[in-house]
Amino acid sequence: MNVHEFQAKAILAKYGAPVPKGHVAASPEAAAAAFDMLGGPTAVVKAQIHAGGRGKAGGVKLVSSGQQARDFAAKLLGKPLRTHQTGPEGRVVRRVYVEAASEVARELYLAMLVDRRCEGLAIIASTEGGMEIEEVAAKTPEKILSEPIDIAIGVAGFQSRRLASALDLKDQQGAAFGTLLASLYRAFMETDASLIEINPLVVAADGRVLCLDAKMSFDDNALFRHPEIRELRDAGEEEPSESEAAKYSLSYVRLDGNIGCMVNGAGLAMATMDIIKFHGAEPANFLDIGGGADAEKVAAAFRILLADPRVKGVLINIFGGIMRCDVLAEGVVEAARQVKLDVPLVVRMEGTNVEQGRQILNSSGLKVTAASDMADAARRIVALIGI
Ligand code: GDP
Ligand code: MN
Repeated sequence: MNVHEFQAKAILAKYGAPVPKGHVAASPEAAAAAFDMLGGPTAVVKAQIHAGGRGKAGGVKLVSSGQQARDFAAKLLGKPLRTHQTGPEGRVVRRVYVEAASEVARELYLAMLVDRRCEGLAIIASTEGGMEIEEVAAKTPEKILSEPIDIAIGVAGFQSRRLASALDLKDQQGAAFGTLLASLYRAFMETDASLIEINPLVVAADGRVLCLDAKMSFDDNALFRHPEIRELRDAGEEEPSESEAAKYSLSYVRLDGNIGCMVNGAGLAMATMDIIKFHGAEPANFLDIGGGADAEKVAAAFRILLADPRVKGVLINIFGGIMRCDVLAEGVVEAARQVKLDVPLVVRMEGTNVEQGRQILNSSGLKVTAASDMADAARRIVALIGI
């Protein structure tokens, strides 16, 4: 799960990271009031969307009066902002963040993320802040430093010093950077984050080291431990089908193809996507309804698949272990009653109560094609949608 910049900064500030003062505003008037509260002389007004590249796209502006803050907020609010990360449709700006402006001497890059290769964390740092890190990695990989962090130890002093020296942060700035790393590390571990990205981390003209931008992502599987973070979820920023799926605890990822897949178990779901591709078509989604799904959950999953106008056919591939095939069949029939099923449906199921399941589907009046095995199922759905 991702959060907005102003939310990430509030979390980081709680852990002692140096962030500029700011106020979030949902109206031009509130933006003007925020400017006045900060007391000037200048502030930065920043569009709050779950995407980077706002600076280049005209979503960040330096202002020097409440009137200017109001005008710029009015320009942004309620309209989509298109950045290179949003896609052509952009994201509608619902809030702006009005922040005390900083005089920037140097822009650096700093991130902390889960690194599976080292079975720990990695801290990524670069002197090339304010740019896209992917571009720096492609053009000048030598300017990116990656420091593996052992989670049994934390950020060791020598690692802090090595990173500070690579970023040319000396004396007091080096010490401030070490303190910042310790704060970020604690924030990362205690919130079950998967990413903290500060781009840019700046050295201000007065010598202070400041987080000018902040992005935080959290491990969805750990959100149950953090109700206060779960509350920060902004459904408006998410794919509607993905937030609907999250409501029913379904693991759903939207993809680009046109065959909707409903599967139980992540491994079987991956295999199903592979076999669809093997037969020349593309899955519209990854969907794991989980082991113990009930009819209501199955119906929700089926509704989500059918609500996608790109879906030209549905493949259900279920191995009934804990999940019973009759429960699955009931869910499918229930959902098909609610939504008009007007695309081909191929079902392959095996396992517990498979006979009852087949019976329910056969007597439902739905047009279902039964498949004998996975390869047969993939061949049939691909043939039915006519590729
Ligand atoms: P992003 O483009 O979505 O990553 O948004 P950022 O928060 O990184 O802002 C974009 C750029 O605006 C930064 O790289 C800075 O160069 C600039 N910027 C943001 N806040 C300030 C500020 O307080 N002072 C100055 N001088 N520049 C700022
Ligand atoms: Mn940025």
